[in-house]
Amino acid sequence: MMKLALHWQILIGMVLGILFAFILLMTGWGKEEIILQIIPAGETVLHKIMDGTVVHEQVLTEEKIITSTKAREFVGNWIAPFGTIFIKLLKLIAVPLILASLIKGISDLKDISKFRNIGLRTIGIYIGTTTVAIILGLVLVNIIEPGNGISEETIDKLTSTYASDEGVTAKLEEATRQKESGPLKFLEDMVPDNAVAALGNNQLMLQVIFFTIFIGISMLLIGEKRARPLKDFFDSLNDVVLKMVDLIMLTAPYAVFALLANVVVSSSDPEILLALLKYAGVVVLGLFLMIVFYSILVSVFAKKNPFWFLKQLSPAQLLAFSTSSSAATLPVTMERVEEHIGVDKEVSSFVLPVGATVNMDGTSLYQGIAAVFIAQALSFDLPLTAQLTIVLTALLASIGTAAVPGAGMVMLVIVLESVGFPPDKYAIGLALIFAVDRPLDMLRTVVNITGDATVATIVAKSVDKLHDNPKAKNWDDHYDEVK
Ligand code: ASP
Repeated sequence: MMKLALHWQILIGMVLGILFAFILLMTGWGKEEIILQIIPAGETVLHKIMDGTVVHEQVLTEEKIITSTKAREFVGNWIAPFGTIFIKLLKLIAVPLILASLIKGISDLKDISKFRNIGLRTIGIYIGTTTVAIILGLVLVNIIEPGNGISEETIDKLTSTYASDEGVTAKLEEATRQKESGPLKFLEDMVPDNAVAALGNNQLMLQVIFFTIFIGISMLLIGEKRARPLKDFFDSLNDVVLKMVDLIMLTAPYAVFALLANVVVSSSDPEILLALLKYAGVVVLGLFLMIVFYSILVSVFAKKNPFWFLKQLSPAQLLAFSTSSSAATLPVTMERVEEHIGVDKEVSSFVLPVGATVNMDGTSLYQGIAAVFIAQALSFDLPLTAQLTIVLTALLASIGTAAVPGAGMVMLVIVLESVGFPPDKYAIGLALIFAVDRPLDMLRTVVNITGDATVATIVAKSVDKLHDNPKAKNWDDHYDEVK
């Protein structure tokens, strides 16, 4: 029987998930509001940030009623967990994958100078593509001016709906925490003081990379013979983890069904989405142009057909869209770039994990556009010098943005601060764009991982490590022997 290609299977899962949720929303379950909780005035509510830490306590001055719909509750209780399990599985293998593949990549190198070469090129190109993304975003938002047409009424409506929303408050609080750190804090944070703690925390990806490169280089220095046992161990671990990626991907079509159904039932009022259509349109146009930009890079510098390139990468892009997380998508990005595009592990094992954390072109483009949009809507003047500041801060902010859903919005606060936006208006600013943040997050994550894959391909070509006939390992290589 002919098997449908993976990207088609995933696409069908996504479409069915969206349809299912829309149908559910049209039934009585979608309309009927249910009261989940009534919190009386005088009670204290806790605001938590993404990792669950309580950052703020608020004493309620009036009664707060938390409502939901039956559809949302049903999907949340019975369907969403399958999406969550899938994301957990991908995250589960991220650290072993980086460890095994980066050690394999480095210890396969014959000399260290090659690694320095790859490293410097990668960082240079990452900074270049991100700068292009921010400038593109700023040009578009200044020409189209999506914030100028927005009515007072819409601003009031968005502010009253979202300014004190828990999502917005949590983002502001997270931003305050991030801001308190000094300029070289990110370098300090890159170096772990405890290997086990670094390996035990998915958010410490750069620490894992640092530790792994350290091991890899030391292995090169003690010579092939003495490093052999460790190398064999990591080579084998690498194969096993890649097989785990294949197995997890078998469930991807079902998982994306669950993820997208959940996004649709949890999304905001369609009327509000409509009011922000012009702003969202500018972001989407910018993201699309970035894909065109990558296509040109791939064809000029790697001499590959961009349509072929995008097709090979498509399962990873669809997952980036469904999960909104470059970190969760990393194992699949690595597999596609190595086994289907032909980038040698010596390059991809470094370029991709680093890219997942520091290279976020989609996010930085969005931060530039969102900052100017908010300024336009609230009539805050942004002269050219302020816009140049945005280029620099959005570059740094995108490096500091965690590769998880919604993180780009946290760092947006830092971009707003850099141009002197009044702090008492941050909440209103975020409220203006909050309603469409999730769909835009899904799209910018696609661009983030496409940028990483593009740079990996170009760097590989430049050091003669792009293979012509990549061989994909299928998930059932030895299935007959073990079943
Ligand atoms: N969700 C994005 C990512 O993981 C980050 C962001 O823009 O919020 O790449």
